[in-house]
Amino acid sequence: METKIKVENLNFYYGNNRALSNINMDIYKNKITAFIGPSGCGKSTFLRTINRMNEFIENTRVEGKILIDGEDIYSKKVDPVELRRRVGMVFQRPNPFPKTIYENIVYGLKKNGVKNKEILNEVVDTTLKSVALYEEVKDKIHKSALELSGGQQQRLCIARTIAMQPDVILFDEPTSALDPISTMKIEELLLELKNDYTIIIVTHSMQQAARISDYTAFFLNGEVIEFDETNKIFSNPRDKRTEDYITGRFG
Ligand code: ADP
Repeated sequence: METKIKVENLNFYYGNNRALSNINMDIYKNKITAFIGPSGCGKSTFLRTINRMNEFIENTRVEGKILIDGEDIYSKKVDPVELRRRVGMVFQRPNPFPKTIYENIVYGLKKNGVKNKEILNEVVDTTLKSVALYEEVKDKIHKSALELSGGQQQRLCIARTIAMQPDVILFDEPTSALDPISTMKIEELLLELKNDYTIIIVTHSMQQAARISDYTAFFLNGEVIEFDETNKIFSNPRDKRTEDYITGRFG
């Protein structure tokens, strides 16, 4: 098993409020790692430290290290824009641009100066296929993305992320705004995508974590209480607090 992301003694502050305390974790390549825990325990904050999205929030501070492929992502040598290409992110609410399906997918590439129509067409086809959306939308690629259903929009947002050739993809509660069938399709998709990407998912659904993740981290009050193989977390947790949470005693 290969470590893709190594987190060392990570603390995170919003002003004087410490939202993450002394996080240490290895996140493995081509696995799905789930973050679970009650609302406000720091899951999203931690996710956003991994692609430096927290830097958009004023008056925040990081201590400690996050290494991706051995490189400290907070070092001065790292360009945060390039980092966010390598570490893509998909959000809770599908957020396609008010543009065509095609333009949504090629948006980032065009911004990076890719103009060749053949290359762009190829990327649109392959990414739509890899998110299992191609058959559903092949006749309306030049129609507005906003005409798609919520579940289709979310798969399009995943396609848009993949088009940038990331190697890590962060998902922040990607199915909480979706119906059960769309949720199932996204879960199946994540299981496919882990062959090519390292996946981290914040989820409020323990069932979802149990269904799709290989590793689970249980957060409480900004700390990682327990991190282990998902089947161990759900069948034989070491910590009483994890057990109380997964059996529904709080949260
Ligand atoms: P979770 O994802 O587990 O629900 P969050 O990471 O959103 O938790 O929040 C962790 C803590 O950080 C909470 O106390 C929350 O109020 C605080 N927090 C989150 N976002 C901000 C922000 N933009 N500014 C200030 N505090 C924040």
